[in-house]
Amino acid sequence: MRLHEYQAKQIFAKYGIKIPKGKLATTVEEVRKIAEELGGKVVLKSQILVGGRGKAGGIKLANSVEEAVEIAKDLFGKVIKGHRVEKIYVEEQLNIQREMYVGLTLDRAEKGIALIVSSVGGMDIEEIAAKHPEKIARITINPLYGLWDFQIREVLYKSGMPKELHKEITGIIKALYKILIDHEAELTEINPLVLTDKGLFAADARLNVDDNALYRHPELKELRDYTEVDQIERIAEEKGLNYVKLDGNIGVIANGAGMSMSTMDLIYLEGGKPANFLDIGGGASSEVVKEAIKTILMDKNVKVIFMNIFGGITRCDEVAKGLVKAFQEIVIPVPIVLRLAGTNEEEGRRIIEEFLEREKKNIIVVETMEEGAKKAVELAR
Ligand code: GDP
Ligand code: MN
Repeated sequence: MRLHEYQAKQIFAKYGIKIPKGKLATTVEEVRKIAEELGGKVVLKSQILVGGRGKAGGIKLANSVEEAVEIAKDLFGKVIKGHRVEKIYVEEQLNIQREMYVGLTLDRAEKGIALIVSSVGGMDIEEIAAKHPEKIARITINPLYGLWDFQIREVLYKSGMPKELHKEITGIIKALYKILIDHEAELTEINPLVLTDKGLFAADARLNVDDNALYRHPELKELRDYTEVDQIERIAEEKGLNYVKLDGNIGVIANGAGMSMSTMDLIYLEGGKPANFLDIGGGASSEVVKEAIKTILMDKNVKVIFMNIFGGITRCDEVAKGLVKAFQEIVIPVPIVLRLAGTNEEEGRRIIEEFLEREKKNIIVVETMEEGAKKAVELAR
């Protein structure tokens, strides 16, 4: 989960990193009030969960209250890189003398935490690496040993950071490291870190926390901005389902990430497009299966559902029971292509057959996943 800049800055400030004075606004009137408080010379920063806002027109400088108001009128409601601006963070303008970069991120390949520093900043890190390779340095921190001063010195020297800034940046890097560890974050970044006559400030702030660790951080969970999350994804998350919305018309229910992905691959191979990725996980109960079907049907693009279950820990009879339950509780307006294999396969099929003898429902039972994908693509046309 990615936090908004204003949220990340509040956390950075608690760890002693200097941030410009600023407040969040959701209306033009609030922007006016905050701009007045800050003396008129302000920066208006769109709070949208995407990078490169500056280049895309989401960050604007205003030199008076009136100018701030005019910019705010234009920014609110504007769609920037696919995100609608609903919140604007209004900050005092900094007198920037120099822009730099510091960031920490998980490096799975190195099994550690990468510390990346650059004596130039403001543009994205890939661009810095391409244009100024000699001004960027990185090392990998072993999380078991933690971050050592000599490691910080190494990156500061290698990145060509001016000597007089080393002491203050060292403090900032240590704070960022502590933020990363304390919040179980995947990324903490300041880009740009700016030099002003009052020292170093975080002009921007990024903090991405690990969704899978959120249950240990209820205070972070509350920061999730649901206006930036798909409605169905939000409901699925509340039900504990692994659901990702895609833009096709074939609903996919499978057990396990591998099964879900290979099911989607087969659909693409047959010339179709999945409407989602829904993984019910291992050992799903009939209740979970029923909820999965309900969730998928919220997406009005879905023309057919392909349930592809390979029973291991998951039992096919539980899946079949879930499907029957779903038919009893809700109207299912689309055909369901069902493939059941593995644990309790016969029992699962028997439950479906008996159900179909009693009630005329549109369930098509197939033998293999290839056959299922073909059938689903055909029905979706
Ligand atoms: P991003 O483009 O989404 O990464 O947004 P940033 O917050 O990094 O802002 C983009 C650029 O706007 C920065 O690199 C700065 O050059 C500029 N900027 C941000 N805040 C200020 C400020 O207070 N004063 C001035 N002069 N420029 C700023
Ligand atoms: Mn930035």
